[in-house]
Amino acid sequence: MCRHLGYVGPPVSVGEMLGAGTHSLVRQSWAPKEMRGGGTINADGFGVAWRSSGRWSRYRSAQPLWSDPAVPEVLADVASGSIVAAVRSATEGMPVERSATAPFVGDGWAFSHNGVVRGWPDTLAPLASELPVADLLRLESPTDSATLWQLLRHALGVQTPEAAVTALVTTVAREAPGSRLNLLLSGGDELWATAWDHALYARVDDTSALIASEPLDDSDGWQPVPDRHLVGARPGHLILTPLEMGDP
Ligand code: GLN
Repeated sequence: MCRHLGYVGPPVSVGEMLGAGTHSLVRQSWAPKEMRGGGTINADGFGVAWRSSGRWSRYRSAQPLWSDPAVPEVLADVASGSIVAAVRSATEGMPVERSATAPFVGDGWAFSHNGVVRGWPDTLAPLASELPVADLLRLESPTDSATLWQLLRHALGVQTPEAAVTALVTTVAREAPGSRLNLLLSGGDELWATAWDHALYARVDDTSALIASEPLDDSDGWQPVPDRHLVGARPGHLILTPLEMGDP
């Protein structure tokens, strides 16, 4: 399963954030600790989105994070106070291509999915059938994660982030039992994430908020997110809410 992280706080170097900590996202791309049976390394591409001047910019690649020279040569010189990054271990049968790599961005949001929708695409077809056909034609890649993004993006047009993320995870968990649904969403000033059958941690202090699949270092501030919980985080604020599968 992929690994992801979200950061909100004082501006930092985007490239340095990818390599920050003794167990950085770069390290998690080749030596993750908590894959829980979902693959071994995250070598099927990586992506990073950062907000600057009110809009998200993004760099993605189908190469492993550890071997892309754009990280030290370009991204190290870019600064931002809002970052979402992901390294990918493609689910069996899904394409390894740049467009399949999180983060997905649009309408002021950046999104990543760590996990798998069991039975995709059939299990998501009933939900996807409610989307406008033009949105389905805009699917970036034929993957479960890109479909989740299109569903969430649509919901964010009419619901709060908390409501949209909660409804998506609980509905997909019901329609596709056994799915792993760690979602991560940033609006730039706040992060929302879910732990649904996969590892997730948060570290929040008065100036910054970090959410990551695995702690980036051994410092005390990392708090494990209990399974089946929604996290809302921004500097000085962390809230954990239980997620319950609703009735069909
Ligand atoms: N299922 C998604 C994909 O293939 C996410 C993969 C993962 O979390 N390992 O892109």
